[in-house]
Amino acid sequence: MDFSLSDEQRAIQDMAAKFAEREIAPHVAAYDREERFPLEIYAKMGPLGLTGGVIPEKFGGTGMDHVTYALVIMELARHCPALAGAASWASGVAGVSVLRFGSEELKQKYLVPLAQGKVPAAIALTEPHTGSDVASMRTRVIRTDEGYILRGNKIWVSMIKSCGWMIAFGTLDPALGRKGVCAFVVEPQWPGVTTVPFKNKVGFRPMETGEVAFDDVHVPASHLIGQEGEGFRVAMCSVENGRLGVAARSCGMLRGCLEEALDYIPSRQTFGEPIGNRQLIQSKITDMVVWHETARLLTLKLASLKDQGHRARQEASMAKMYASDVLMRGAEHAMQIHGAYACSDDFAVGRFWRDAKFMQVIEGTNEIHRWLIAEFALGYRR
Ligand SMILES: Cc1cc2nc3c(=O)[nH]c(=O)nc-3n(C[C@H](O)[C@H](O)[C@H](O)COP(=O)(O)OP(=O)(O)OC[C@H]3O[C@@H](n4cnc5c(N)ncnc54)[C@H](O)[C@@H]3O)c2cc1C
Repeated sequence: MDFSLSDEQRAIQDMAAKFAEREIAPHVAAYDREERFPLEIYAKMGPLGLTGGVIPEKFGGTGMDHVTYALVIMELARHCPALAGAASWASGVAGVSVLRFGSEELKQKYLVPLAQGKVPAAIALTEPHTGSDVASMRTRVIRTDEGYILRGNKIWVSMIKSCGWMIAFGTLDPALGRKGVCAFVVEPQWPGVTTVPFKNKVGFRPMETGEVAFDDVHVPASHLIGQEGEGFRVAMCSVENGRLGVAARSCGMLRGCLEEALDYIPSRQTFGEPIGNRQLIQSKITDMVVWHETARLLTLKLASLKDQGHRARQEASMAKMYASDVLMRGAEHAMQIHGAYACSDDFAVGRFWRDAKFMQVIEGTNEIHRWLIAEFALGYRR
């Protein structure tokens, strides 16, 4: 594979890196502490094309190739995984579901402002009793003359305070399994929708993650995405893009951990020598360098396969699982190198470490990806 970048790709990557250093780095510790999504920084990302990702320009997007998109996410995540996440909403489940399955009216009303970075979106899939086993959801969809009623509860939904719309999943009948699932565009201010963000979360603190209740919410028929019973397919159609986004975020965060460690090491001496002279410290750096390089290669390979038009389910699982696993291990190395100072909020490593854990959980837990990769290898899945 040829990973040499074009001048245009380099220019976009450089622009994202400079934006992150100038606009995000000075503020991230404060808004993370305040558990506040920085809408004022997000508002600056749209005009630069940072939120448009792979969405075509005619729908408000930037029309990037997947490799450029992944590079942008990596640069933003090097300072803040939450804003890197914001740059991936249009190119992930929210945007791509509407792009592929939504009507022209839904695309204009919801996809365009999302891709332009004017309004965040949310995905309401997980329920209190089930996350990985999506098809066993209990939120009910009831047909009416005008459309549908949505009744049920979701949990661990991100961006519920600031989102302008969400894709909500429910089932016509739990006994139908995957074939009963429907997907809708729902606005959070509609009657019957209640959102309660959690406070004092361990990680993802700026992400406004919490509970959503649908208390007999009336949804117009025009807000159904795809056909009745096609909701599982809607969610699955963009999984590689979602996983590419998480893999790229993990690579950016791991680079952040490595650079924080490299910055810290020269300032610390023990027993009369810089800690950087100690082989046990050097070994940790070696791990992080190699993990970062290999995670990046898997991620860019996935992006390149997407650019060639492949589905790449197995590669998506490999990139997401591997990048987030080595991020977790790398974050722990960076913490250990910082000694007691890792415990201080003044150093970024603690934040990376807290967030890293949940990169192993979102977009399919890494246990689920382990299972999928083996099943592809065994030929049980194609
Ligand atoms: C910070 C954060 C933000 C999130 N944002 C969103 C969001 O915006 N929208 C949304 O809908 N959801 C969101 N989620 C939820 C996330 O997608 C789920 O947590 C995830 O799908 C796992 O579901 P669960 O937590 O119910 O775990 P479970 O599915 O209950 O799994 C529990 C454990 O069992 C393991 N396990 C499950 N099944 C198997 C199996 N077959 N084989 C082996 N091991 C298995 C899992 O890997 C895990 O370790 C978010 C979660 C977090 C932490």
